[in-house]
Amino acid sequence: MQGEKLAERFGWRRLSTGELLREAKDPAITAIMQKGELVPHDVFECVMGEAILGAKDIERIILDGFPRSMEQAEWLVKSRPEHGRAVGSLIVLDVSKEELLSRLSLRGRVDDTPEAIDQRFAVYEHESRPVIEYFAQQGIPVIHVNGEGTIDEVHERVVEELTKRGFVK
Ligand code: AMP
Repeated sequence: MQGEKLAERFGWRRLSTGELLREAKDPAITAIMQKGELVPHDVFECVMGEAILGAKDIERIILDGFPRSMEQAEWLVKSRPEHGRAVGSLIVLDVSKEELLSRLSLRGRVDDTPEAIDQRFAVYEHESRPVIEYFAQQGIPVIHVNGEGTIDEVHERVVEELTKRGFVK
């Protein structure tokens, strides 16, 4: 949601790996998603590389749900010569587990079963959270934003942080 709002407001491109995977309608991939596990990295290399290149006339790209593992983060940083983009910043939306559970219960997507949700939390801790530290070590600004509140409130907070850092005027 926040990615969509930013893209719309500033004319940027949002690329969501979850959406790309859902659109692929591949039974093997759908099975992995329904368990709340990460889809193997080799599925992304080609698709993400092409999607990023496809947006070369756009000022900024918002990668929504990517990278979710160290392998993906290293690929994104190290493949810069191929896809031509530097990572400008990492926006981390901080939301309590309670609030996330309540949002997921309202959303009710097919992969929002209690088992898949538990697995996604575990995967986030083990595989995705280390990416924050990795980006910081690479000198990439990590922007923490309070993600609780209404969509518009969170959006304004994100824009305020991006403005402070000169990403938007
Ligand atoms: P999302 O739409 O971002 O909630 O993603 C839904 C599901 O798609 C995740 O639980 C994963 O199974 C898969 N997925 C999305 N993005 C990635 C990614 N970057 N790496 C691996 N799996 C992903």
